[in-house]
Parts: sequence; C-alpha cells; structure tokens
Amino acid sequence: MATSQPIAQLGHPILSKKALPIEDISSPSIQKLIDDMMQTVDKAGGVGIAAPQIYQNKRIFIVCSKPNTRYPNAPDMPATAMINPEIISHGSEQENGWEGCLSVPSLRGLVSRYTHIEISYLDRNGLKHHATYTDFLARIFQHELDHLDGLTFVDRVASADDLISESEWYRQYN
Ligand code: ZN
Repeated sequence: MATSQPIAQLGHPILSKKALPIEDISSPSIQKLIDDMMQTVDKAGGVGIAAPQIYQNKRIFIVCSKPNTRYPNAPDMPATAMINPEIISHGSEQENGWEGCLSVPSLRGLVSRYTHIEISYLDRNGLKHHATYTDFLARIFQHELDHLDGLTFVDRVASADDLISESEWYRQYN
C-alpha cells in the first residue's frame, strides 16, 4: 500500500549525494517506492519529487504538473514516474524563474534553466520514452534531475539576492 513519506530537508546529507541508477524496475521495492513518491508529492501539493527527497538514493523522480496560480498555463499531466532520466540535448536559450522545493520550505530562489530540452526516461514498466519539454515542464525536469545529482535550487541561484522568503515572494509576485 502506498504510504506518504517524510521529506528530507535542506542540509540532510542524502540531498547532496549522487543517486544511483535503477536496474530492477519491476521489483516490488521499486514499485512501492514509486507509489510512495506519488502519494507523498500529492499530499504535499508539489509538482515534482525525487527519490532522495524521501531518503532513497535512486535515480527516479515523479513529475506531476498541473495548472496553478503561479503557472496558469502549466500542462495538466498525469503524475509520471521517470526512471534513470537524462537530458539528451538542450537549446541555447535559458530563462530565469522562481522555484520552490518541498525540501526547502519557506524559501524561493531565482534560477536560470534551459527553456527547451530533449529528454529520455524509463517508465514504471521499463519502457523507454523520449520527449521534448519546454518552459515549465523543462524547468521541473531540470529541478528534479538536479536532486539526483545532489543539487537543490539553492546551489543554482546566481547570488544570495536571488533567495527570498516564501511570504515575501507571495507579497511581491502575486
Ligand atoms: Zn526540489
């Protein structure tokens, strides 16, 4: 049964580790991990979560974009598990955008991300997918992939001026 899990918070060593590729996608423990991550991100109201955020050092994340007040044009997609995900190529254009993170509560950071990326991943049945993501989806993918490489958005801001409290972010940008 899927269980919502506690979320690792900034400073915990698991968030700084490079996560390991998954070889046994069909195993009950990986299938349960996927279910738990889906449950956890849904309960927390996030648009994505990576396995290290629930203390699992594995290359898997969930992307679950839906329109919200911050991103009214965000694509509405079913929650998708992406295993051993990779960026195959990217365009040259980058864009600044404010990011939050379930592991960094109460803070927002201005982060530059590629606006066009070509990606691949394995789904929970082990099938390989290729896709082109733009804008918001591209941003989520890059944010989550960073978690698998031991980085959070705090590592990506250009300067400390690009970190603000969530309440101040709401006041200034909504
Ligand atoms: Zn995050």
